[in-house]
Amino acid sequence: MRGPRDVRVEHRAKPVIQEPTDAIIKVAAACVCGSDLWPYRGIADYGPEARMGHEYVGVVEQVGDAVKTVKPGDFVVGSFIASDNTCEICRAGYQSRCVNNQGVNAAQAEYLRVPLADGTLVATPSMPDAELIPSLLTASDVLGTGWFAAVAAEAGPGKTVAVVGDGAVGLLSILAARQLGAERVLAMSRNPARQALAKQFGATDIVEGRGDDGVARIKDTTGGLGAHSVIEAVGTQESMEQAIHACRPGGHVGYVGVAHQVQLKGLDLFFAEVHLHGGPAPVRQYLPDLINRIWDRQINPGLVFDLTLPLEHAPEAYQAMDQRRAIKVLLQP
Ligand SMILES: [Zn+2]
Repeated sequence: MRGPRDVRVEHRAKPVIQEPTDAIIKVAAACVCGSDLWPYRGIADYGPEARMGHEYVGVVEQVGDAVKTVKPGDFVVGSFIASDNTCEICRAGYQSRCVNNQGVNAAQAEYLRVPLADGTLVATPSMPDAELIPSLLTASDVLGTGWFAAVAAEAGPGKTVAVVGDGAVGLLSILAARQLGAERVLAMSRNPARQALAKQFGATDIVEGRGDDGVARIKDTTGGLGAHSVIEAVGTQESMEQAIHACRPGGHVGYVGVAHQVQLKGLDLFFAEVHLHGGPAPVRQYLPDLINRIWDRQINPGLVFDLTLPLEHAPEAYQAMDQRRAIKVLLQP
């Protein structure tokens, strides 16, 4: 990405092992993230030559001398943040904030260097069927992030969960909330195609209102109390306020939308009396479980991809997501 709305596919040298803990993988599939749209829209600045992409699955081609848990030929899913998975923060389940964390970038490519391979990559039981690849790819970020949002919001049996945001993360957080046993999931969306997918992922109710109106509708359908759990998957002032206000006192808000110019008002927060928990999802924590659920065909999160393009057409993928013509675009190298 050379600047706002300027994505190009260019030839670069194939990545090489730089550290003994690195792996090089041949990317089987990558995709465009909602967070890639922030620099695309000029809201965040990634510099004059950002190598994009942090969601990936592929086959290990080469590993550094210190790598023990994956080997050439393994099909792997990796987290969008590399972690050692051994430090105290990792062991507490917060690998996205590992003391040695490194961002993964340049995954929208044919080959990718993954740092801290042992702590970042998880191999599948064998080579996956082609039909499983989109779902495995979601585990790398968008499903893992939706899962963390549902966990952070304490979605579970007997709970009513409201989801603010009908992008891919919001939609997959519905799937996560239901897998975790939530009784009702209220999906906030005005888009018919996204409403349909929300229902497929297990939403029990669709709420079309936004802002104060959306909050009023959530309260109406929960006996005036608000939801037990609210998932925030956008990252704006409006979505964060909507999430906090839609939550009942004592409830939990799980927020995973990357916050842009969000400022919380102290007194508002004080009287909301809710738990707030969120941030960059520790996807690595959930990968083994998510891979199993996908492998056993218990879940089909790959449905979130409504457009697949060859890697050379990456600019079109960004355009389609920016214009909300596509929910999420899979890129095939
Ligand atoms: Zn760590």
